[in-house]
Amino acid sequence: MNDSWPTPTPDLPTRGRGANFPSDGPEPMTLERLYLYDTTLRDGAQTPGVDFSLEDKLTIIGLLDELGIDYIEGGYPGANPTDTALFAEPRNTRGRLTAFGMTKRAGRSIANDPGIHDLCSAHADAVCYVAKSWDYHVRVALGTTNDENLKGIRQSVEAARASGKEALVDCEHFFDGFKANPGYALACARTAHEAGARWVVLCDTNGGTLPDEVEAIVAEVTRTVPGDRLGIHAHNDTGQAVANSLAAVRAGARQIQGTLNGLGERCGNANLVTLIPTLMLKAAFAERFDIGVTADGLKSLTHVSRVFDEMLNRAPDRQAPYVGDSAFSTKAGIHASAIMKEPETYEHVKPESIGNRRRLLVSDQGGKSNLVAELARIGIEVERSDRRLDKLLAEVKAREAAGYAYEAAGASFELLARRTLGSVPRFFEVESFRIMTEQRHNAVGKVVTVSEAVVKVVVDGERFLSVGEGNGPVNALDVALRKDLGKYQRHIANLELVDYKVRILNGGTSATTRVLIESRDDAGERWFTVGVSPNIVDASFQALSDSITYKLMREEARGTVAPSAAAVG
Ligand SMILES: [Zn+2]
Repeated sequence: MNDSWPTPTPDLPTRGRGANFPSDGPEPMTLERLYLYDTTLRDGAQTPGVDFSLEDKLTIIGLLDELGIDYIEGGYPGANPTDTALFAEPRNTRGRLTAFGMTKRAGRSIANDPGIHDLCSAHADAVCYVAKSWDYHVRVALGTTNDENLKGIRQSVEAARASGKEALVDCEHFFDGFKANPGYALACARTAHEAGARWVVLCDTNGGTLPDEVEAIVAEVTRTVPGDRLGIHAHNDTGQAVANSLAAVRAGARQIQGTLNGLGERCGNANLVTLIPTLMLKAAFAERFDIGVTADGLKSLTHVSRVFDEMLNRAPDRQAPYVGDSAFSTKAGIHASAIMKEPETYEHVKPESIGNRRRLLVSDQGGKSNLVAELARIGIEVERSDRRLDKLLAEVKAREAAGYAYEAAGASFELLARRTLGSVPRFFEVESFRIMTEQRHNAVGKVVTVSEAVVKVVVDGERFLSVGEGNGPVNALDVALRKDLGKYQRHIANLELVDYKVRILNGGTSATTRVLIESRDDAGERWFTVGVSPNIVDASFQALSDSITYKLMREEARGTVAPSAAAVG
């Protein structure tokens, strides 16, 4: 295929995956190549609150490259210092590092357009231009003529090619433009193609087009520009960016643009983390296309998705397709025993293929099968006939009835299980704690409320007294509790509380409070603990104490904490 396409310019480094590019030779298999283009670092970076540093960008480029993404859009050289620095030196990527920018400005010559100069001189393998393809935008936003816009597209593509780079053209608002004036939208696409753009990308910029419309319009466009030169750039405003991307592929497009975890302004872009497994695991696509991501790359997808959320400092979406924590979890006991026998009955794909895992929720609806399976997952092997199992099951049920939520607090569940079935060292013992909250006027006469906690802890027979201050009682208690745990202190130094959630479980003066705490360490591991009590401080104390114990137990399993001689509890 594509034998009319020139070979890559000689100054491009030899790529490990080079054989996948059409110009490098015949396809090894009958599978047709479908290309993935990531725009996390440019379109994804439009998301409010997202601001990537150069270091962030380089890390994400590494993740995408490892995954096997064909094109990695790095940003907009010349637009800001980060992106300018990114393209200031060669980056050794297997995927084609792509610089993004606008086509030539109207009323300027190509040689006098600083934007074009920045793009063509960037250390990038490809340049992606955004071009207007809706005559309404040409008139209103650019204030120029339709012909001048076409000339800008042609000259910009030629400039990128003359600088030795591959050229792509993102046709902005293509679908809306096509509906308003199909002749002009097609003229933009044709101009880009004839000027030598490797890809003409049809953008659903507003994200409002529906899959059947995308499929029909892309099919129409393939009569002007061949499908193996067409890409799709879909936004998720109707929740169908992935469906729209797949519809475009069915109609002939052979490049998909998207972002990690669907990051992007408004409702986001097409989610590559959903698209990749769909393309690789669903027969309708897997039997027709090769996307350049290996089976091993696919296995890393859950990890990549979660590491990316970690970088964004947000909790991963538990219900994310394929990679979410709940993607392969089920609750009912009757299903659990069937899943153990025949997992495929209840799972649309194998969770391991994307690096995820089966999860059988422990809950008051679950029976022994759930429990045994969940214990096996966390490394505790128990015979179904073991009497302690009944004790644990009764304990879980009683606690869940009292308000504990073990589904959401895996670390507290593990501690409960190990305490019931085996042994959890008693790393520390809190002898007592006292908290005082005071409202007073501060030095400048402003009313402030501060809390102070005093905690007495015993570690290996040695007593520690710590005082902590905070803006509330729980904060003060946390500060005091984690201030000095003697010989264990260094192991909890990197423990951080990420989230704290309080739920009042029943009304009235005797209301029960449930506290859920999310913790993490600097290795990126996250765990959840729970506490329940009529007293919010006590509920918080249970969850905090479980969090620290869990962390120390993990360290002990790794051999970094010497096994404690203290009693087990
Ligand atoms: Zn976009």
